[in-house]
Amino acid sequence: MMDQIISRLNNNQNVLLATHVNPDGDAIGSLLAMGLALEKLKIEAKLFCQSPIPPLYRFLPWSHRVCRILGDHRKYETAIILDCGELERIGKEAQWVRQIPVIINIDHHSTNTYFGHINYVYTKACATAEIIYYLINEIGVTINQPIARCLYTGILTDTGSFRLTNTNHAAFEICQKLVKAGVDPHDVAKHVYGQYSLARIKLLNLALDSLEISKNGKLSLMTLTHKMLKETGTQNEDIDGMINYARRIKNIKLAVLIQEYQKGHPPTGEKGRYHVSLRSDGSIDVANIAISFGGGGHVTAAGFCTESRLPHLKKSIFKLAEAL
Ligand code: AMP
Ligand code: MN
Ligand code: MN
Repeated sequence: MMDQIISRLNNNQNVLLATHVNPDGDAIGSLLAMGLALEKLKIEAKLFCQSPIPPLYRFLPWSHRVCRILGDHRKYETAIILDCGELERIGKEAQWVRQIPVIINIDHHSTNTYFGHINYVYTKACATAEIIYYLINEIGVTINQPIARCLYTGILTDTGSFRLTNTNHAAFEICQKLVKAGVDPHDVAKHVYGQYSLARIKLLNLALDSLEISKNGKLSLMTLTHKMLKETGTQNEDIDGMINYARRIKNIKLAVLIQEYQKGHPPTGEKGRYHVSLRSDGSIDVANIAISFGGGGHVTAAGFCTESRLPHLKKSIFKLAEAL
């Protein structure tokens, strides 16, 4: 697998690197680390993400180089798709990217569809950044401080700061090496977690206020409407992480957060008016639930998009509590 990827890279110059819409720390960290590593090999890659990079990740090196426009897909010989369970996760450009001669799929989602010509899918990895760490070592690029910072951010955020069930020994082993390579954990944490705007705290207040618990006490639901975002002067990306409050409640097995997009303006790549995030305490598989709603993800963190109306959506979510 690794050999196939390396030989393809060695024989190619026009590489597209892409990740999913609404990128998280792993998507961005993996994308940037891979871009920086390829540059060391004198391979010029285009870095693509259809959504804007959330401001909190703009401290990462090369984050300004990520393009939102694909351009002519015919110029690429190889596409490397990072942190995507399915190709459609990169957004509407998937239809063009699909035509690139060789697609390399590098991912850790349990719902991965093996859409690539070459698939490096390792579901035991805590983050795609873990796989990228192995790959960069294999291709013989030294992990310098900028690359280390990107990979560290990917592992830190996807493991929920080394707290989620995907936190494996590799997370610690690799991060130890990344810290040795020059990452300052405090500095990264400060950027990623320590820069809440007042508006975001006000939104959190509304999120907590929206909490509903199922009758059996096993399901929690938060709902954030577009109106709430408008009232507080926040954006959908500010919601990131708020589901953890719903997840942390004692006895909760399934935490759900519904976020509404502006009518007629879902972010590029999102397929409906609402995005639903699902988190489990580890005792149930939320990837399966997400798939049944047309989404995907991991055992303990998954999501889907829907057009269905809010009352109906809430009803179908509370129905899930009966099986818990
Ligand atoms: P989120 O709920 O956006 O925090 O996402 C949680 C996990 O579910 C991430 O690993 C996503 O990659 C995955 N996920 C979220 N939304 C979708 C979707 N519409 N389709 C497939 N996977 C998704
Ligand atoms: Mn991701
Ligand atoms: Mn990931």
